[in-house]
Amino acid sequence: MKTKYELIVVGGGFAGMGAAIAAARQGTDVLIVEKNGYLSGSAAMSYVNPFMGEYRIRSSEDGERDIVVNAGIFEEVRQQLMNYGAYRKAGSAFNMEILKIIFDRMCKDAGVSVLFHAYVTDVVKADDRISAINVACRGNKYTFEADCFIDATGDANLSYMAGCNCRLGRDADNLCQPMTLCFRMGEIDTESYWKNLKDVQKIWKEKLSNGELLNPRENILSFHLVEEGVVHLNTTRVVKKNPVDIIGLSEAEALAREQMLEFINFVRENIPGCENAQVISAAPEIGVRESRMIEGEYTVSVEDFFECVQFEDSVARGAYPVDIHSPDGTGTLIQKIPVGKYYTIPYRSLIPKDMKNLLVAGRCISTTHEAQSAYRIMPICCCIGEGAGVAASLAVKNSLSDVRDVNIDEVHAILDSVGALY
Ligand SMILES: Cc1cc2nc3c(=O)[nH]c(=O)nc-3n(C[C@H](O)[C@H](O)[C@H](O)COP(=O)(O)OP(=O)(O)OC[C@H]3O[C@@H](n4cnc5c(N)ncnc54)[C@H](O)[C@@H]3O)c2cc1C
Repeated sequence: MKTKYELIVVGGGFAGMGAAIAAARQGTDVLIVEKNGYLSGSAAMSYVNPFMGEYRIRSSEDGERDIVVNAGIFEEVRQQLMNYGAYRKAGSAFNMEILKIIFDRMCKDAGVSVLFHAYVTDVVKADDRISAINVACRGNKYTFEADCFIDATGDANLSYMAGCNCRLGRDADNLCQPMTLCFRMGEIDTESYWKNLKDVQKIWKEKLSNGELLNPRENILSFHLVEEGVVHLNTTRVVKKNPVDIIGLSEAEALAREQMLEFINFVRENIPGCENAQVISAAPEIGVRESRMIEGEYTVSVEDFFECVQFEDSVARGAYPVDIHSPDGTGTLIQKIPVGKYYTIPYRSLIPKDMKNLLVAGRCISTTHEAQSAYRIMPICCCIGEGAGVAASLAVKNSLSDVRDVNIDEVHAILDSVGALY
């Protein structure tokens, strides 16, 4: 078995996919290490769906969504989902089983080596460099070396294991955005569900204010899927549990299941035609919106986003608003980006302080709690990953000992050549 690669990407979510595929397409020898038995990350393991729509924005309040913000590999994936009949244009929902296959094929075509059921347990580090990772698979242990590494674990697990400083949640009390167990509900009259939803929200609010609900969420958040006859629920809300602590996470999983049952009973009692509602399936893992974020060479603030700062070393764009599900319980704060504008993600926010051959991609780059609530969506994470992958490929190709020395003009030239936006 081959144990030495030019680049190892840990985590096969949208960020890891963007990174691994982009780097391999530049001729880099890439290994992706993923603890699950499939690619797609939170989209499949936590049933996150749909793509949040601000990958295209309007130039005016009432205009068409004609400004493209997130392109490149993300757009390729979206087009392929459409080609497979696995995408619902209205609402941007996708079939996650087909998504897994699309990523398998894209990795194969790009020449990315993929290891599943491969849990990175620790790193081998010398000074400010990672030389290898240790990986566990069903009682077996393996070591893989690389010149460069990308942490796309969502939780900054690799960086944390390498001793990098990380922040957790909001500064005042380290509380993160709530965790949510997404699930699918069926055996209902979906027409009646969507027709009655507005009125039923009032009953939900009443019950919430009377203290009758375990779930502190202010309303019911549900979506259409590609498949008819099923409703996607993003409604459970577990607060004040630490998503990277074994006790916090364990308690959260069980509590979320109780909330799921509470919701099904609520639907059975309150929506005509839904008396026999059933959970069709629940995500294998509770969804984590926010956990660790690295302390990087630059920490992106929410002001950078509202001012739409165009960073010279930008590697990706975003236009999704600040969207903070209350870490305390009830309430969601939405603050939009100026109409027709987008913010940018600087390369420096992907570089952990004090590390020379490590980049971070996805929801755990260096930003504040408030800024993280905006760029954390799948389209933007994929684009950040793509930028990280291109930068890492240049670091490897030019035998750079420090990822800080990557020439950003060269990164931009490659992103231009593949139609990615930054
Ligand atoms: C409940 C919820 C609802 C959301 N709603 C939306 C939405 O509607 N639309 C939207 O666009 N975004 C939404 N998001 C945000 C979005 O899903 C995530 O922020 C995004 O998918 C993060 O991508 P990522 O690649 O950074 O991380 P992830 O997708 O989490 O991928 C990380 C990968 O790393 C792997 N990994 C972690 N540790 C290790 C290890 N030690 N060894 C090996 N592998 C490891 C994991 O198994 C996983 O596959 C939501 C998130 C949540 C939780």
